[in-house]
Amino acid sequence: MRIADVQTHILNYDLDTRFQSSFSTFQARTHCLVEITCEDGTVGWGECLGPAVLNGAVVEQMRGWLIGKNPLETERLWLTLYHQFRDQGQRGVTITALSGIDIALWDIKGKHFGAPVHVLLGGAFRTQVKAYATGGFRRVGGERVSDMVRETAGYVAEGFEAMKIKIGYGAVEDIATIEAVRDAIGPDTHLMIDANHGYDALEAIQVGNAVADLGIDWFEEPVVPEDLDGYIEVKQRQPIPVAGGETWYTRWNMLDVLKSGAVDILQPDVCGVGGLSESVKIADMAAAFGVRLIPHVWGTGVAIAAGLQYLAVLPDVPPRHEPRQPWLEFDRTENPFRQAVLTTPIEHEAGVVAVPQGPGLGIEIDRAALEQYRL
Ligand code: CA
Repeated sequence: MRIADVQTHILNYDLDTRFQSSFSTFQARTHCLVEITCEDGTVGWGECLGPAVLNGAVVEQMRGWLIGKNPLETERLWLTLYHQFRDQGQRGVTITALSGIDIALWDIKGKHFGAPVHVLLGGAFRTQVKAYATGGFRRVGGERVSDMVRETAGYVAEGFEAMKIKIGYGAVEDIATIEAVRDAIGPDTHLMIDANHGYDALEAIQVGNAVADLGIDWFEEPVVPEDLDGYIEVKQRQPIPVAGGETWYTRWNMLDVLKSGAVDILQPDVCGVGGLSESVKIADMAAAFGVRLIPHVWGTGVAIAAGLQYLAVLPDVPPRHEPRQPWLEFDRTENPFRQAVLTTPIEHEAGVVAVPQGPGLGIEIDRAALEQYRL
């Protein structure tokens, strides 16, 4: 079995309403899919987190090391590409590009052996996962508090038991928003807050303490990812569990994070951290360090499917009769091609999502949607 071609598909949709995280303004949704075709006609799909056009360019640079190779040798190919690009590429877009390639190779492997990826990775601990609604961005031109009350109440009405909102715009605005949301969704709905590293440690500690009695499950990316000492300070000086991981790359970066004790909950993104091959290693590392792991997911149905295959194989830590379950991050913000790229969309039912059971990632791609949303 040989790889015949590696292609990328850059998809784009200009948003009707722009929205903001702490530091960026989203004018469009743009994502990069990777398609690897084998000489026998088998096709595998992957997705890269982050800047789509740059990811496409890096995948193109990596293509030459893949053509003619055996796609089943996922570990060898991962290391070949990592070694080739290591000197300037230990983090960031090199690794997000490699992630998309690795996921596509696992999709091929699953199709070749007629098994879902989670079987090849060692077997599923679960066949479905509870999803938390992710959204809560700041709408440009909107009214922050009433927008958030309306949006989060909608998630409750849809059946979600958990949701995450964005903060990191400034302590006063953020505290008012969190208080209003908790009021709107009631005491029994899980609520998480995500600062997208919009604070320094002092402001994060101020916000964490101010909302500590509002039952927040975790405080995500309080400070910039380079500042592990800041993470530790936030962990020590306010009581909400601290989470992070979507901007850390590979086992080596995660080792620094785990050794430093920077987070209570690690959030690797399969499409960013190095693909499925690297994600399972990081799950083992997190378990060995006694750190909870709840993956980050942000992208199309391909990314969601890869996230679900990963969620399926996360071991129960600790094992017990009714183990604590990891959440699926389920993006609810505007993106018409998120599910349109799949012939069978991955939907939630009362906040629960099934792990795809077909071969590989368990999805099929709708090529008409790729054409419709091509950049
Ligand atoms: Ca986040």
